Amino acid sequence: MDYLKKFDLAGKRALVTGGGRGIGLEIAHALGQAGAAIVIADLDANSAAAAAAKLASRGVVASYRPIDVAKSDAVTALADELNANESIDILINNAGIARIAEALDTSDADWLATMRVNSDASFWCARAFGRHMIARRRGAIVNIGSMCGMVVTQPQNNTAYITSKGAVHMMTKSLACAWAKHNVRVNAVAPGYVATEMTAPPKNENSFQYERWLEQTPLGRLGEPHEVASAVLFLASPASSYCTGTILSVDGGYTSM
Ligand code: NAD
Repeated sequence: MDYLKKFDLAGKRALVTGGGRGIGLEIAHALGQAGAAIVIADLDANSAAAAAAKLASRGVVASYRPIDVAKSDAVTALADELNANESIDILINNAGIARIAEALDTSDADWLATMRVNSDASFWCARAFGRHMIARRRGAIVNIGSMCGMVVTQPQNNTAYITSKGAVHMMTKSLACAWAKHNVRVNAVAPGYVATEMTAPPKNENSFQYERWLEQTPLGRLGEPHEVASAVLFLASPASSYCTGTILSVDGGYTSM
């Protein structure tokens, strides 16, 4: 058995939502280094363009599409267009937002926005791209969930975000069972606290909160985006060919405490 070959994505095409920066950009780098051509799909056209250029400078075949993945019609149109000639073999549902607020302080608008981007959009993308994967009888979908889909975090108990990520985990299991017979695998990665712009405000402005995070994380530090990207590469590649419906924790031990 050639084990390293199992991570080889040469000839595959992967779409990464929210790939303009942070964890998504690092996932795009990992999949690109393994040989996949990358499509960055991000709301922010400038960062999407910059991300594609950065990947190209590292030798990755990369393009970008500005899109709001919370818009179902736009997602379906993009999936149909990109699959018209060539397949999208790998979908990474990574785009996400976090608006930190306790339940009683959560506005309707913040609740709906969190659900729309984190949960609804992941389903719109899975449905639109999954339809083509099913027709071709091959594909891998990796959803970016969170440890917040498993446990309640402290000191911030962010009900909207926690609920949205719980939905991502159960959607992963439901689609995995529905699409296994079509040779389409659906898995998720559940990161803990990772050093990106999403976690920068607490890290820089709220030492009480940040210190709690480190105390509650057995490895005693934030994760780095590349540490999430390695797990995504595993789940997106044939190295994980017997995994479907898996929620893979990459959280420095947070959910073991
Ligand atoms: P980030 O804020 O650094 O990047 C998010 C990216 O998603 C941005 O490029 C943004 O433009 C894009 N995006 C947001 N809304 C979009 C939309 N409607 N359509 C298209 N693109 C959109 O975030 P990150 O820290 O890299 O997080 C990436 C994923 O990992 C998210 O799903 C997040 O919930 C999850 N996650 C992050 C952490 C963490 O500690 N950073 C922990 C657990 C899970």
